[in-house]
Amino acid sequence: MSEQLTLERIRTFEGKYPRQLWALFFTEMWERFCFYGMRGMLTVFMVSQLALDDRTANLQYGAIQAFVYAFTFIGGVFADKILGFRKSLLWGALLMIVGGLVIAVSPKEFFYIGICFSIIGTGFFKPNISTMVGQLYHPDDSRRDAGFSLFYAGINLGALLGGILMVYVGKYHSWSWAFALVGVVMTISLVNFLYTQRSLGPIGLSPLHPDMPVSRRKIYEIATYIGSLVAIPFILLLVTNTAYTDLFMYIIGPATLVWLGWEMRKFSAAENKRLMAALVFILFSVLFWAFFEQSGGSLSLFALNNLRHSLLGIPMDPNVVNNSSNSLFVIAFAAPLGILWVWLAKRKLEPNSVVKFGLGFLLLALAFYVFYATIFFADADGVTSLDVFTLGYFVITFGELCLSPIGLSLMTKLSPHSVQGLMMGMWFLASAYGQYVAGLLGAGMSIAGEEATNMAKLQSYTDGYLQLALYALVAGVVLIAISPLVRRLMRGVH
Ligand code: GLN
Repeated sequence: MSEQLTLERIRTFEGKYPRQLWALFFTEMWERFCFYGMRGMLTVFMVSQLALDDRTANLQYGAIQAFVYAFTFIGGVFADKILGFRKSLLWGALLMIVGGLVIAVSPKEFFYIGICFSIIGTGFFKPNISTMVGQLYHPDDSRRDAGFSLFYAGINLGALLGGILMVYVGKYHSWSWAFALVGVVMTISLVNFLYTQRSLGPIGLSPLHPDMPVSRRKIYEIATYIGSLVAIPFILLLVTNTAYTDLFMYIIGPATLVWLGWEMRKFSAAENKRLMAALVFILFSVLFWAFFEQSGGSLSLFALNNLRHSLLGIPMDPNVVNNSSNSLFVIAFAAPLGILWVWLAKRKLEPNSVVKFGLGFLLLALAFYVFYATIFFADADGVTSLDVFTLGYFVITFGELCLSPIGLSLMTKLSPHSVQGLMMGMWFLASAYGQYVAGLLGAGMSIAGEEATNMAKLQSYTDGYLQLALYALVAGVVLIAISPLVRRLMRGVH
C-alpha cells in the first residue's frame, strides 16, 4: 500500500517534468555515449586494425547493430519475468563495462568477445530504462510525450559527445584507451543510477510474486545472470558468421510475435486491442528506421563524395555534418517540441499519436525530397551544396522527433504492466530490422559502382532518395488515413 502511495506521489508531480526523469536522463546519456562512441569506431577499427575489406566490415557492422537491437527483446522479457527493470539495467551496465574493458586489454584479439558482452549488456539496459521513464507518469498524463522528448535529448547529447570523443581517442591515441573509456563511462552511468534509484520508489522492482521465498527468487535471478553469460559463445558464433545473421533475423521477429500471442491470452479484449495498435506502430517504425538509417550508410558515402566542404560559407567536412547535425538538432529542438505538445494539449489542439507518427513520415518524405533536390545545386563534377544537405537533416530530425520519442511513450501507454519490457524490446527490435533493411536499400542505391564518376553516383543516390521520399509520403498518408481505426484499437489512449 505504501508502495502504491509512493508511486502515486511520484506521478502527481508539479511542473513539466518529474524530477526522477533527470536520473534516468543522465544514466541513459552516458550509456548512449558508449553506444554511439563504439558505433562510430566499429567500421574504422575493423578496417584499420582487423584488416577487413570495406564490404566485410560493412556487413559485420550491420550484423552487430542488428544484434544489439535484437537482444533488447530478450532483455525486456527477462526484466518483465524475473529481474525487474532496475536489476536488468544494472546487469546490462556491468556486462557493458566488462565488454569495453575486455577489448581494451587487447583490441585485436578480444574485439569480438567484448562486442558480445556489449550486445547482451545493451539488451538488458536499453529497453528497460525507457520503460522506467514511462512509469513516472499516470496512464492519462498528457506530459508523458514531453518527458520522452527530453529523455531523447539526453540520448542525443550522449551520442554526440561519445561519437566525437571516442572516435578521436581511438583514431589519434589508442584503441585500447578508447575501449577502456567505455568501461569508465559506463561505470559513471551505473554509479549515477545506483545513487539515484531510490528516488524511483517502487518503479522497476522485482516482478516476482511477493510471496515467493527469497531463496527461490535468488535462484531465478542467478540463473538469468548465468544464462546470459552462457549465451555469449553462441552470440559470438552468430556475429562472426554473417550468414547466421540472416537466419537469426528471419527467426527472431516471428518468434517474438508468437511469444506476444501467447502472452495475449492473459489479457482482456481491450488490452489486446491496444497491443494490436502497438504492433501497428512497431511495423511502421521498421520502415521509418530503414529510411532514416541511410545516415550511417548511403548518406555518409554521399557526404564523402558529393558535397562541398563549406557550410554557410564556413569550411566544413561534410562527414562531420552527416555524423553530428542530427544529434545537434535533436538537442536543440526536442525539449521545445515537447513543450509545444504540452501547450497544444492544454488548448486541446495536440495531434493524437497516430497523426504524430503520420507527420513523422511526411517530414521524412520532405527530408528525402530535400536530399534529392541537392541535384539541382550540383556542379559539373557532381559536387553539390552542403547547405541543402544540412537542411535535409534539419527536416528529418523533426520527423524523428514526431516518431521516435512518441513511439517510446506509446509502448509504455499501450502495454499492460506485465509485458512493458517485452513491448519496449519489440519496439527496438523494429530498429534492428530497420537497420537491416537500411543496408539493403543503401546497397541498392549504390549501383554506380566503384569506378563510376561522381556525377553518376550523385544521380544514382538522388534517384534513390526521390523514391524513398515517395514511399515515405505514401506511408504517412496511409497512417493518417487509418488513424481513426488505430485510435479505435487504442481505446481512449491518445
Ligand atoms: N537514436 C535513438 C536511440 O539511440 C533511437 C534509436 C532507435 O530506436 N533506432 O535511442
